Amino acid sequence: MRAAIRAAKRGEKQGEVPIGAVVVYEDKVVARGYNRRAKLQLASAHAEMMAIDKACKVFHSWRLPEGCELYVTLEPCPMCMGASLNARVDKIYFGAYEQKGRSLTNELADANLLNHKTEVVGGVLQTECEQLLSGFFISLRQKQKEEKEQKKALLAMEQSASND
Ligand SMILES: [Zn+2]
Repeated sequence: MRAAIRAAKRGEKQGEVPIGAVVVYEDKVVARGYNRRAKLQLASAHAEMMAIDKACKVFHSWRLPEGCELYVTLEPCPMCMGASLNARVDKIYFGAYEQKGRSLTNELADANLLNHKTEVVGGVLQTECEQLLSGFFISLRQKQKEEKEQKKALLAMEQSASND
C-alpha cells in the first residue's frame, strides 16, 4: 500500500486527484499506476486501470497469473472492479472507503460473473489514504478561495480606478 501511496503522490504533483495503485505478484510490485484523468482527459484513466494495463503488458496476457493482487488507495469504482475481475486479479486491498456509500464493490466481487473470485479487503492504511485525498481537496479549496479573493481585489482596484 505504501507503494500505491507513493504512486498517488506522483500524480498529485502533476495536479491529479491523488489515487495510486500497484499490482503485486509474488511479493513484488510488477506495475504501478496513478490517476491521470486530468492529464489524459480520459474517463478511463483511473489508477487501477493504469496499473492493470501495465501488469498485462508485463505478463503479455490479459489474464494475470494466479496470485496477482491489486493495492489501491481508494475503494475501486465499478469500472475498475470490472477490469480487476476481467484480468483475474485474485485479491484487492484498498485504503479509503468511498465516501458517499454508493460503492458496488462487494456486490461486484460477489457477482462472480466471470467464474473468478476476487477477494476484497478494505481499510488498509485507511487513515493515511484518507488524508492523502482530504489534504488534496483542502489545498484545492484553499487555492480556489485565494484565486477568488485575488479576482475580487483586482475588480475593486479596477472599479476605483474607473471612478477616478
Ligand atoms: Zn476506477
